[in-house]
Amino acid sequence: MEANDKIKVIKGIGEKTEKVFHKLGIETVQDLIEHYPRGYEEFEGPAMIATIQEGTTIAIEASLMSTPKVKKVKNLQIVNAQVKDSTSSMFLTWFNMPFLQKTLRYGYHYIFRGKVIRKNGILLMEQPGIYQREDYYRLLKVLQPIYPLTEGITNTAVSKAIKQALTELEFAKDYIPKPVAKEYLLMDRTKAIKEVHFPRERESMMKARQRLVFDEFFLYSLALRKLKDKKTVLRSEYTMEERPECDQYMKSFPYSLTKAQLRVWEEIKKDLCGDYVMNRLIQGDVGSGKTVLAILSLLMAVKNGYQTSFMVPTEVLAKQHYKSLSSLSTEFGISICLLVGSMTAKEKREAYDRIKTHRADIIIGTHALIQEKVEYDRLGLVITDEQHRFGVKQREALMNKGGNPHVLVMSATPIPRTLAIILYGDLDISIVDELPAERLPIKNCVVDTNYRPKAYRFIDKQVAEGRQTYVICPMVEESEEVEAENVIEYTERLKEALASGITVEFLHGKMKPKDKNDVMERFANGEIKVLVSTTVVEVGVNVPNATVMMVENSERFGLAQLHQLRGRVGRGEHQSYCILVCGSSSKDAWERLEILNKSNDGFFIAGEDLKLRGPGDIFGIRQSGDMDFKLGDIFNDASLLKAAAVAVKSLKDKEVDSIFEANPYLEEKILYRNSNTL
Ligand code: ADP
Ligand code: MG
Repeated sequence: MEANDKIKVIKGIGEKTEKVFHKLGIETVQDLIEHYPRGYEEFEGPAMIATIQEGTTIAIEASLMSTPKVKKVKNLQIVNAQVKDSTSSMFLTWFNMPFLQKTLRYGYHYIFRGKVIRKNGILLMEQPGIYQREDYYRLLKVLQPIYPLTEGITNTAVSKAIKQALTELEFAKDYIPKPVAKEYLLMDRTKAIKEVHFPRERESMMKARQRLVFDEFFLYSLALRKLKDKKTVLRSEYTMEERPECDQYMKSFPYSLTKAQLRVWEEIKKDLCGDYVMNRLIQGDVGSGKTVLAILSLLMAVKNGYQTSFMVPTEVLAKQHYKSLSSLSTEFGISICLLVGSMTAKEKREAYDRIKTHRADIIIGTHALIQEKVEYDRLGLVITDEQHRFGVKQREALMNKGGNPHVLVMSATPIPRTLAIILYGDLDISIVDELPAERLPIKNCVVDTNYRPKAYRFIDKQVAEGRQTYVICPMVEESEEVEAENVIEYTERLKEALASGITVEFLHGKMKPKDKNDVMERFANGEIKVLVSTTVVEVGVNVPNATVMMVENSERFGLAQLHQLRGRVGRGEHQSYCILVCGSSSKDAWERLEILNKSNDGFFIAGEDLKLRGPGDIFGIRQSGDMDFKLGDIFNDASLLKAAAVAVKSLKDKEVDSIFEANPYLEEKILYRNSNTL
């Protein structure tokens, strides 16, 4: 078996299962073995029923007090059983497993393991696993991998497929040079991959993970180094001079720029008017006002006679920027062109033609901007917003569309400077470290679900005053596996719960682009008052009239993600509010949310989150959206990141080349990382 083989070579993966694996982003055996566990389950010795507590996952050793009963509710078959041990008794429930009535026998002992919940006041386990005593004791202390899954596939199926791949695959030679491996005490790569899937013990798993995280960072740094080698200090073909239109445009704002914005604008201008090609990252917390800096730069480039492009990660965002740019077209006679995936073939052809013939000065869009068919004319400046959503390769692809255009990338990810220098090694960094002064800080609260009626009355009041509200739910629709609020049902419930006449609509990623845009537009123009949404509104969306952000099941989100979500409000002159509804009674969940409650500062939040999780806490909720490495977490694994960067720096050019030569797939793979986040 070879790394590039399609996963069909694995026993038990037919056409149907293959498609399910594709949904997980797994096409080849290589992808499969890099589908790492998101955590491990460790079986513990059985507990006494009298001591168990709500919310814990636990095993009990107990005997059946009677033959299980099957009840039909709608199209669900529910099996109920009562079991006891020497201390107490409890109820167990299974769904759609009627055969258990025959297999579980009255009077016999089993080990049941599952999550303890409370229903109608009594403790019970739903869907517990069932084990014979000796089987269970064999599993004790073994770390069982838990894989990221999707509908139509079980953990066992993934685990089995990986096990086969690991035994039959011819592993490639380790690409980390021996001296580096030695210096950083790295486990052999093949061994590490095996160990991380099926660890012998916690300690060796941690070492394996460390090696693989090092790899990810090492390869990333390597790719950056290649990129940098290619373009270090290029003379600019697109030199510019300052233009009066920029000041004129600035004067038209209803506000004055913050000191930080002005400082960064000076840095950009200096680059653009200088002799060398600009490669600059603008880092600034949500709401710090990065967009105007982009627009000013675009204006300057266009008025110097160049074409420009502005790439954003979602269509919703592209449309939004398109609208805010339209004032430029009337005021300064600039022509703006939208290019997104959902446009019809005809619309796209027209856009391509406008771009090629330079009848478009600013082209704004998604990935569609880097399609082969797009030909630019004197592309002098490219900007990417929400940079962390794109891979290095996409940034490069856009650059290659012109003869070394100036590059400006923007990011709200609160990465400490020392890390930013590594992660954006090929860029100069500007920081917008100040929020507009007149902005009122967002008022936060963390509440349980009992608070909902109060929250709804509050939303009623805000809407009556002319404001708008977001409500975020983790799920799109009801799911059997996950107990969390979903957008579709919640919208119906909210329509009932809020004052009559309030327009409530939903938004989620599975909707057609046209419908999404339609809802977003109606929310932006104030027609929709309450938007119930998944995290699709997380990045960049700007509706300054929205003042309430209510997040259901907020315990299910990463803190960074919640901070981004909260950044959707507090963007205008009105007081804004963030209501974090915690659906869990776990102390840890509340403690985590308390960090957001206390602070509106992205850097502070990232730091506190890290402290709480502690180093090596691979079960922690990942900083969703940030530089998405498969295993590595730039915050948690900062020391490995630094080590890998140092290691790459110490390599000779020849060594770098030979690593890429020996692994032709490497460059492609690392540079295209993140390409599927749209
Ligand atoms: P982000 O940095 O998150 O991309 P935006 O650029 O979308 O933030 O700006 C957020 C909001 O702040 C927008 O409504 C914008 O018009 C407004 N804004 C930008 N700069 C200032 C400023 N100096 N003073 C007041 N409001 C500003
Ligand atoms: Mg933005």
